[in-house]
Amino acid sequence: MRILLVAFFLLVFSSPRAHPQSRLGAPAIRLTNVTVIDVRGGKARPGMTVTIVDGRITAIVPNGTPGEATGRRIDASGKFLIPGLWDMHVHLLFGDWFPGARDISLPLFIANGVTGVRDMGSDLEPVLEWRKAIDAGTLLGPRIVTPGPMLDGPEPRFPSSIAIKTPEDGRHAVRELKRRGADFIKFQSLIPRDAVFAIADEAKKHGLVVAGHVPDAVRASEASTAGQKSFEHLIGIFEGSSPAEDEFLKGSKGPGRFLAAYDPKRARVLAELLAKNRTWQCPTLVWERGGNLIDENDFPHDPRAKYVPSYWKDKTWRRFTDQITHEFNTDDLATRKRFVEKELEVVGALHRAGVPFLAGTDTPPGVFVFPGFSLHEELQLFVRAGFTPREALETATLNPAIYLGLEKRLGTVETGKFADLVLLDANPLEDIRNTQQISAVIVRGRYLARADLDSLLAHAETAAGRQ
Ligand SMILES: [Zn+2]
Repeated sequence: MRILLVAFFLLVFSSPRAHPQSRLGAPAIRLTNVTVIDVRGGKARPGMTVTIVDGRITAIVPNGTPGEATGRRIDASGKFLIPGLWDMHVHLLFGDWFPGARDISLPLFIANGVTGVRDMGSDLEPVLEWRKAIDAGTLLGPRIVTPGPMLDGPEPRFPSSIAIKTPEDGRHAVRELKRRGADFIKFQSLIPRDAVFAIADEAKKHGLVVAGHVPDAVRASEASTAGQKSFEHLIGIFEGSSPAEDEFLKGSKGPGRFLAAYDPKRARVLAELLAKNRTWQCPTLVWERGGNLIDENDFPHDPRAKYVPSYWKDKTWRRFTDQITHEFNTDDLATRKRFVEKELEVVGALHRAGVPFLAGTDTPPGVFVFPGFSLHEELQLFVRAGFTPREALETATLNPAIYLGLEKRLGTVETGKFADLVLLDANPLEDIRNTQQISAVIVRGRYLARADLDSLLAHAETAAGRQ
């Protein structure tokens, strides 16, 4: 498959060299008559010309502005330009649980306009190899930040994990991951309490961010105060919004209990703390629904099923599904439905309290959560939670850039920024579902037209069929 992808890459990008070339060989381009979407201010600026040279946006001017006409002209009349999307919770290479992931997930991300991903737990060295190949232009894929393996308790439940028994284990793991080139530290649920704080302390010393699950043994407020930068899956939020928090910490949780014990006053206090500490929330709403309502899923009729290898479906997802059905989904379906609606309400309340949000999906360990495609569902769920379409778009564009400290380079359509962009056939500020109307994706200045994206999808489908 690597050969196929490289061949595809050469096919797409070996057009005659009539225009100024970037270092990586992407010809300069000029999108004319395009409507530029400003995710910060919420304005749509029609009739613009956007010039891209050497992988960067070099000019955004009204059509017909005098000056040198650089690059291949692409008529973008009637189209809308947004920043490339980030999925802030994925697993690129999860032990041997998702064979073929490189040749399936990477093209699916790009074909869906996902030009950046925050990996939340993978085997480190292979992912760093992918990143190198992507940077060198020999592999097509999104920008990647990765923690490498996740830190978990003495007996981790998942692959790509490091077992932590003691605070010293935790400190050692942080130093080792730093040495091996990890970008940050990922918490899983089972880390012992004293090790949690030791890891947070050691990470701070080495300039590494800590993100992930709020470990079972600590309160959300404690994790936030200890400097954990993002919480995943709303873990700790319902616990901390209840007078029964200490009981929940001992292990008796579940949607029914969370609903019964929810206390709006406590929820407000926690929200204020998270807003004050700027503790980012990546609620993975699409997976919250998927997991809690797993018995409602209609995978066989999903048109995206063809991108899923039988191994993922019949082995990995089946294992999760069985576990969820027998161990976690002990509440009846009506209760679980009320819970996922309550989650949207809670996300809306946190948002109004000023807590910052990131869009993430947990693909592919999240059962029936598809690389690339599901990020768009996540944006729609943010709108259902009360975000405006602009605010939802922000969770996958400007907010990831701010979170990662890359605001000067990514996150908006502005001169000087990297040319990771998505061209849409309809305005996403009017209806967030329009992010799925993808006309083209620009990756590091390379223009992938609809036909190219369809080829990527076909390649992913072929790769899925081989596993
Ligand atoms: Zn995850």
